[in-house]
Amino acid sequence: MKKILLIHTGGTISMIEDKTTGTIQQNQQNPLLNTTNSLNEIADISVLELFHLPSPHITTNEMLLLMKEIKERVVTENIDGVVITHGTDTLEETAYFLDVTISFELPIVVTGAMRSSNELGADGLYNLISSIRVAASDSARGKGVLVVLNDEIHTARNVTKTHTSNVATFQSPQYGPIGIVTKRGVVFHQAPLFRETCNIKSITKKVIMLKAYAGMDGTILQAVQSLGIDGLVIEALGQGNLPPLMVNDLKEMIDNDIPVVLVSRCFNGFVEDVYGYDGGGKQLKDLGVIFSNGLNGQKARLKLLVALESNVSQEKLQELFQK
Ligand code: ASP
Repeated sequence: MKKILLIHTGGTISMIEDKTTGTIQQNQQNPLLNTTNSLNEIADISVLELFHLPSPHITTNEMLLLMKEIKERVVTENIDGVVITHGTDTLEETAYFLDVTISFELPIVVTGAMRSSNELGADGLYNLISSIRVAASDSARGKGVLVVLNDEIHTARNVTKTHTSNVATFQSPQYGPIGIVTKRGVVFHQAPLFRETCNIKSITKKVIMLKAYAGMDGTILQAVQSLGIDGLVIEALGQGNLPPLMVNDLKEMIDNDIPVVLVSRCFNGFVEDVYGYDGGGKQLKDLGVIFSNGLNGQKARLKLLVALESNVSQEKLQELFQK
């Protein structure tokens, strides 16, 4: 039997609906802890309740602690795979953080639920069982951190939460899932082509993210610069363009050695230096803005945080974000 480390961090999957008020919240006791016996029929499970937090309360501090815990246990214990339960709101961020900081070959799977443990049609236990089956599968090795919900297997890099309440909320725009969980097995039909990880011990940098909109000007850039940030991610318009009134302040930021990474606020596609007008991608690229290859804003922010922590050079940053 495969040995799986199951780490609970909280989220709806660990919550209970109060039938009188209709609110969903944590109980003192995590209801998932009652399921461990039945899970032991699928794999040899050791359980760690690391946090009991709603995922909007998760910060990079918790992500770092989780990363350290996994690294330590995988080295000291004989583990075949890891499953993490997590709130769905920031699940993709924790999954991606682990993906860029842990280079192990063994499967690491993150899962959650859209319905709490006592709601009709609760999806938590089902997703947890699917995730354990994936983590126990040899074919899941070497594919980076995976996100498993609703019978689908996604990469941490591409997956995102697309719906506020639907159980099919997790999708990988442009690419789709890389595998599926069936009644009898775990089937992969794609594999990531590359992985690059940075070995970090702490997070000390401050990277923030802004979303561009029609008519945006440079005042917000002046304000964030005065906060003493180490990096900025902008969700730009379309193929990677910004309103012209932002350009001067953006230039000042780059001249002050603050890296600026551009992603698109569009759901699909890459940012590229295509447009030559004022504020167009060509001008932004010439200023030294770093163009990112299909990552969404929240993941580009984590990638920049991790890269800055590893002291990578400006040239290497450009290269990293093209991958
Ligand atoms: N708000 C919840 C959380 O992220 C949503 C969930 O877990 O599905 O903790």
